[in-house]
Amino acid sequence: MTAGRPRTLKRVNSAVSNRLERRDLTDPAVPTPAASGAGPFTEPLTGAVAAADTLVAEPLTGADAAADTPAAAPLTGAVAAADTLAAAPISRSRTYQVRTYGCQMNVHDSERLSGLLERAGYTPTDEGETADVVVFNTCAVRENADNKLYGNLGHLAPVKAAKPGMQIAVGGCLAQKDRGEILRRAPWVDVVFGTHNVGSLPTLLDRSRHNARAEMEILEALEVFPSTLPAKRESAYAGWVSISVGCNNTCTFCIVPSLRGKEADRRPGDVLAEVQMLVDDGVLEVTLLGQNVNSYGVEFGDRAAFGKLLRSCGGIAGLERVRFTSPHPKDFTTDVIDAMASTPSVCHQLHMPLQSGSDRVLRAMRRSYRSERYLSILAEVRAAMPDAAITTDIIVGFPGESEADFQQTLEVVTQADFAGAFTFQYSPRPGTPAASMADQVSREVVTERFRRLMEVVDASALNGNRAQVGSVVEVLVASGEGHKDGASGRMSGRARDGRLVHFAPVGPAIDRAVRPGDVVTTRVTYGAPHHLLADGELLTHRRTRAGDRSEAGVAVRTPGVGLGLPGVGRPARPAAAPAAACSVAPVR
Ligand code: SF4
Repeated sequence: MTAGRPRTLKRVNSAVSNRLERRDLTDPAVPTPAASGAGPFTEPLTGAVAAADTLVAEPLTGADAAADTPAAAPLTGAVAAADTLAAAPISRSRTYQVRTYGCQMNVHDSERLSGLLERAGYTPTDEGETADVVVFNTCAVRENADNKLYGNLGHLAPVKAAKPGMQIAVGGCLAQKDRGEILRRAPWVDVVFGTHNVGSLPTLLDRSRHNARAEMEILEALEVFPSTLPAKRESAYAGWVSISVGCNNTCTFCIVPSLRGKEADRRPGDVLAEVQMLVDDGVLEVTLLGQNVNSYGVEFGDRAAFGKLLRSCGGIAGLERVRFTSPHPKDFTTDVIDAMASTPSVCHQLHMPLQSGSDRVLRAMRRSYRSERYLSILAEVRAAMPDAAITTDIIVGFPGESEADFQQTLEVVTQADFAGAFTFQYSPRPGTPAASMADQVSREVVTERFRRLMEVVDASALNGNRAQVGSVVEVLVASGEGHKDGASGRMSGRARDGRLVHFAPVGPAIDRAVRPGDVVTTRVTYGAPHHLLADGELLTHRRTRAGDRSEAGVAVRTPGVGLGLPGVGRPARPAAAPAAACSVAPVR
């Protein structure tokens, strides 16, 4: 999936980032496969009763917690921090900043880190100020990720020396991988935590301050499903909802499985409760997130679970757009296509990694589908949804890739008619099987193939976008997508199929002002490879609650959505009864 991408060289049309006990298959909260395998979840999905056999403890924060929480890994280091940490009393007005690297999963994890820190009393730092606590949420799959991290840590060393009481924490995939190496190379770091225990951050910060030494805690297995932790959302109109973490696959270029572990699936009811909470707060669009999102259900034995989840999301009144990323071709079923086509809120957008068009290379990558199967899925998707925009990930120069293999990739890309692609030049990632394969392809050859691939992808994307000219698109107005031309006053957003649209916010249809989070319709006037332009007057403008929140600068905050135990991870307020089409039981 996207999270497993080895590196970004060029991004093309981004049209499209305590203890948990596993419930067993007899858990009454787990929906059994419907006879047809095609319906939404039809049983009560959450509730104290259902979850009574599971246990999750809310992460402890604060100084009290520090005393109660045993270290799960040997703590290193009186090493470092003692000389740089002032023995300032623990303050609840300390400021924080989270710096995020990598994929959507990390972006979402950072929302959790922010939520945790704010629950513990920290406040976000103001623009241009140095935070009291700087957290690096790292990525191990990008090229030179470690050099970048240590470079940034080096820049912060003198800043910290000049700011008594400042703390630096490093978490995420690189922390999980490098562990004590981080404290060895950057002994001014105060806290190192892994991918399985993001909930420990406030406790580790407190403990480090209290003990005036560096604290490291890396767990080998998931401590608490990250979604049981509070989150401060980046967007008022769109939210990530993690449905699973980890991956059971073993792609030879990918380090994700060793850092994120085996796939763990959330309960459907917890997923839907979180979606409902977001919608209650005005969020219009939800992206279901998983390293291998469509294998959802493998842990509780329901192969149809992902399609059911899409259908159940479709029953949540007020949820206008449902997206998901990233599916694996080997797990893509007709049922999911049916669910996409028959659920109006599910967007006709599919981002499905191809990685290579050569079956020989796919085998070496340990990707179990073949190009013919991949193309047949696309054909099935287009038959059901002719307007679907399909994007992909492709790696160029995997070890052993010959010119003939690469030609096959070009051929498949041409046939697939992608609306865009994330394309990557392969480079070895330490710790992955592919890194030690013979026949590494030379940098020159990789670069040259990459250029040719870009030409084919761009031509395909351009064709698709030109075909949009004259059509009417519904745009969810975004902030931070970039205005194509600042001088023109254009705003930006995504069409339902994920295409980036820069539009002119002009015309009598506008109700006062267009804000991020509002919904407009407009007619496409121009198609470029990576975006559409719509320079005519808006056809419609709908003010939304998300727009109100964006305008007011109010962030969406969600408490953790846990396993249904009383008082733990509950939605803040009972969700309204779902719409008739949705058989999701009310969550409370
Ligand atoms: Fe994606 Fe899993 Fe393969 Fe990594 S191992 S690329 S996360 S499917």
